[in-house]
Amino acid sequence: MPLPLQKLFTYRITAAEADFIKIGARVAVPFGKSKIYTAIVYEKHLEEPKAYEAKEIYQILDESPIVTEIQLKQWEWISSYYMCSLGDVLRAALPKAFLLESETLVIKNNLFEEESILTDEEYLIWEALEHQSKLKIQDIGKILDRKGVLSVVNSLLSKEAIEVKEEIYEQYKPKYVKYVQLHQNYQSEESLHSLLDDLSRAPKQREIMLCFFQLKHGSKEPVLVQDLIKKSNTTSGIVQALVKKEVFELLQVREDRVSFDTDTRPILDLNDPQLKALAEIKAVFKKKEVCLLHGVTSSGKTEIYSHLISETLEQGKQVLYLLPEIALTTHIINRLQHFYGDKISVFHSRYSVDERVEVWNNLLLRSNKAQIILGARSSVLLPFSNLGLIIVDEEHETSFKQFEPSPRYHARDTAVMLGYLHKANVLLGSATPSVETFYNSRQSKYGYVKLETRYGNVQLPEIELVDIKEKHRKKRMTGHFSDRLLTLIKEALAEKEQVILFQNRRGFSPVVECSTCGVAPQCPNCDVSLTFHKFNNELRCHYCGYQQALPKTCPACENPTLDAKGFGTEQIELELKELFPETKVGRMDLDTTRGKYGYQKLLRSFHDHEIDILVGTQMLTKGLDFKNVSLVGVLNADNLLNFPDFRAHERTYQLMVQVSGRAGRDQKRGKVAIQTFNPYHQILQQVTIHDYEAMYQDQMNERHQFSYPPLVRLVRIVLKHKDFIKVDTAANWMGKSLVNSFGDQVLGPTSPSIGRIRNKYIKSILIKLPANISLKQSKDQIQRIKDSFMAIADFRPVQVIVDVDCY
Ligand code: ADP
Ligand code: ZN
Repeated sequence: MPLPLQKLFTYRITAAEADFIKIGARVAVPFGKSKIYTAIVYEKHLEEPKAYEAKEIYQILDESPIVTEIQLKQWEWISSYYMCSLGDVLRAALPKAFLLESETLVIKNNLFEEESILTDEEYLIWEALEHQSKLKIQDIGKILDRKGVLSVVNSLLSKEAIEVKEEIYEQYKPKYVKYVQLHQNYQSEESLHSLLDDLSRAPKQREIMLCFFQLKHGSKEPVLVQDLIKKSNTTSGIVQALVKKEVFELLQVREDRVSFDTDTRPILDLNDPQLKALAEIKAVFKKKEVCLLHGVTSSGKTEIYSHLISETLEQGKQVLYLLPEIALTTHIINRLQHFYGDKISVFHSRYSVDERVEVWNNLLLRSNKAQIILGARSSVLLPFSNLGLIIVDEEHETSFKQFEPSPRYHARDTAVMLGYLHKANVLLGSATPSVETFYNSRQSKYGYVKLETRYGNVQLPEIELVDIKEKHRKKRMTGHFSDRLLTLIKEALAEKEQVILFQNRRGFSPVVECSTCGVAPQCPNCDVSLTFHKFNNELRCHYCGYQQALPKTCPACENPTLDAKGFGTEQIELELKELFPETKVGRMDLDTTRGKYGYQKLLRSFHDHEIDILVGTQMLTKGLDFKNVSLVGVLNADNLLNFPDFRAHERTYQLMVQVSGRAGRDQKRGKVAIQTFNPYHQILQQVTIHDYEAMYQDQMNERHQFSYPPLVRLVRIVLKHKDFIKVDTAANWMGKSLVNSFGDQVLGPTSPSIGRIRNKYIKSILIKLPANISLKQSKDQIQRIKDSFMAIADFRPVQVIVDVDCY
């Protein structure tokens, strides 16, 4: 059942149905007093449940399974490893259109015209939707005057006469890009010549034609209108005129599906270090399922992946290519589509339900379109049938872990398990592997291959630490910029090179504080200070979205002395505009990329050099490949280092190295300047000399000393409730029970640094499970304690969240 229930439910079927019904197929079943749900057949058996009378199913919805047996095994593993219900996994895995239930809303598809293919009942519903814009499944039952209408609805869906109304997902509106190619009229040499003669009276148009041929370079591919306009320095009007004249033919192509399959390119030849790495990876795969590819930024990991992908396709097997969500830009999609054309399907949380259903079905049918799946976290839950290779790119990225809602799975670890179930190879790639993955390779659980040279022998950037404590003392700071960083920026700009500045906080300044009484305005729903956004003079909560205008006086002492403390991306942008008035500055953070294409647009204008300096948050670190960036500046490394988390140092190392990797990716050696109050900090020293292994060793020593992963497992239990006393009492009870079983491995209950979010008080308990005791038994014990907790009536309203590997 798609519900957060610990158990499976048994329903009664007839002997005939038992023959027909397939494991992994959907059935509509009654549940509770009057609800109908879509459930998945998990098992056929002959044991009557003892605690309840088995009800009859309403209906079988699929002739053949939509969930594979391997998926059911995978779900079982996720549910047991991450301590969640199978229903949670089911909900996360299946596109919503597969899970019709009584509350589901359907709407008419206005593009549908083939009324003749509808059955009488289907027509009745379709007609009803003419008069009512939306119908619940329950209403449809009333129209047809019977129960069990899901199969009719399903059939209407598959005929594309109706759609399921989307409430959860934002509809993904693909963007179209315009291309032109030569009209058929002018395919021959002579016709072309006479055309150019004709155009001699229209010099602008002639100019465009010449640029067109230059851009084409003899290839068969059409030319991007945008490029053509830029190159020939004209307007789209003149291009339009040529389209009207039937000289050009206009093509509109969906940006994320740009592929001209007639003209896919062969993949690139590897250089020697890449060839060596590829051979080593293949040797590892003979002995082990999982291999870590530790390749410095810009070493060409993507090219190595491509070679492995091609070999896997030749064996007739499927490939899963996992990327952090944010890296799923058209940039990487295009790059792979050039090689693999429409063998590639992209699976994106921003895609509509229909598109996700399409990918799902293509995989089930082993269609050609779904030989390579390129996707973020949730694509690890798709119905692969014949998987040969999984690539987890940027395996260290935190966005592979789902924190909310359950299942709180880690896509990388789930991918390793998926590889095991399919006997597929798993390649984890990163320039800065997570400590746990590197540990696994040191323990020989995973193979290990290192790639130390950047492609084209480009040198790693030169990293310089700028001591801003000293600079402050000597009064060499202008706002948040040291004289050194300013000099470097000026040098880069003088060379017409671009600059990236990294600041890990968005907004103008994190907090506003009263300089008289020291009070900072707080969020009314959460225990955090509000963040000041200068651009609209607002205070905002980054946890719940609360916002208010900046008060003129301090809410506590009423003096007009509210003062901005600290700094964010917005402040940096402002300072830059004053320091470099002639320079175009762009800002990339959650606030500026919220719109549908905000992110893409910014990247494009930076790519096209419409922006000289790009200021941004973490978003900047994700695999962007700009040739013209020679300088990367980090405004303040300290707030990363001081973050209260056992991973703070590891993360700082990863982040610093990844941002540095954006500098100097072509012939010239890039420069990186990191401003800090602690230039002698071990981690920053290790960043400057790119010493991953020293960082790893230090981190492991610390984790050994203080018992942290990967040496122990962490399970976090979080309790939430509006009433503080209730959650406090509940947490103490839970804490005591856990201590009885796990002794001093239990930390807490404590209030997290933000003790209240969205009006709910939070208590958290951390359990450290040593590697030498059975994980399964420990989890069973935790589950038993949770069950007894839930049995106490007073505690029932308290929300309990269990998070395994909560980091
Ligand atoms: P990484 O993912 O390791 O950071 P990329 O795969 O993005 O590195 O490669 C960096 C750049 O070098 C890209 O622009 C890529 O096209 C180029 N490159 C890498 N390997 C090759 C190759 N064998 N032939 C041609 N270009 C390559
Ligand atoms: Zn809030």
